[in-house]
Amino acid sequence: MDNVMIVTGGSRGIGAATARLGAAAGYRVCLSYRGNEAAAQAVVDEIEQHGGTAIAVAADVGNETDILQLFRTTDERLGPVTALVNNAGILERQMRVQDMDAERLSRILAVNVTGSILCAREAIRRMSTAHGGQGGAIVNLSSVAARLGAPNEYVDYAATKGAIDTFTLGLAKELADEGIRVNAVRPGIIYTDIHASGGEPGRVDRLKESVPMKRGGRADEVAQAILWLLSDAASYTTGTIIDVTGGR
Ligand code: NAP
Repeated sequence: MDNVMIVTGGSRGIGAATARLGAAAGYRVCLSYRGNEAAAQAVVDEIEQHGGTAIAVAADVGNETDILQLFRTTDERLGPVTALVNNAGILERQMRVQDMDAERLSRILAVNVTGSILCAREAIRRMSTAHGGQGGAIVNLSSVAARLGAPNEYVDYAATKGAIDTFTLGLAKELADEGIRVNAVRPGIIYTDIHASGGEPGRVDRLKESVPMKRGGRADEVAQAILWLLSDAASYTTGTIIDVTGGR
């Protein structure tokens, strides 16, 4: 099987680690990003320096036109996708639900939920054996917040990740006899820039003593679980959610 991976939000953090590991495992990688072109290009350069193949495409997963363009560009430059990592996700400033407005909720639902479902739709149209495809695998990025609820920080974000868990279970069953496996990874608290967008860049260090392993996780530790779920080693695994949380 040709191995073509799309990683949404692959310019930084968990997505960049997944793109690097994916390229090292032999995937031709398309990583998308929203605004930080230099960061995306740096990941592409690093992959190419190690002999891999990668491209970067600017595409806001909160915008359907951008998603269509992301998949078309991948078709043209790398071939049809066989592995989709729905990684792009946002959270907003920490606050209680009583203070959240509709614009914030629209943004977070559009990127974290609608964007993931639309990317999956485009992948299904290319991968499904029912549409003449050769099959494939999808991994969605959930969060331990789906289990814990993120009270006083971002209950809205946690709820989008609960939606991702349910989406994963339903889509896995819908596609199980069409050659597509669908799974999710629920990271705990991982050292990436996402915590700064919540207004607390030092959040991992504040919370790490509450983790049974007494440390935050690294992006590459999450990427390893993603790569396993995408690989043939996980050939009988679908509708599964793997926690990568240090025991949290
Ligand atoms: P991050 O460091 O903030 O990186 C986010 C990535 O997504 C960047 O490449 C960013 O691109 C891209 N992105 C943001 N908004 C986008 C949009 N609308 N369209 C396309 N790309 C977009 O995030 P991370 O911590 O690696 O998180 C990755 C995933 O893991 C997310 O789904 C997150 O919810 C989940 N997660 C993270 C943690 C954690 O502790 N870090 C825990 C649980 C779950 P630009 O660089 O161009 O902005």
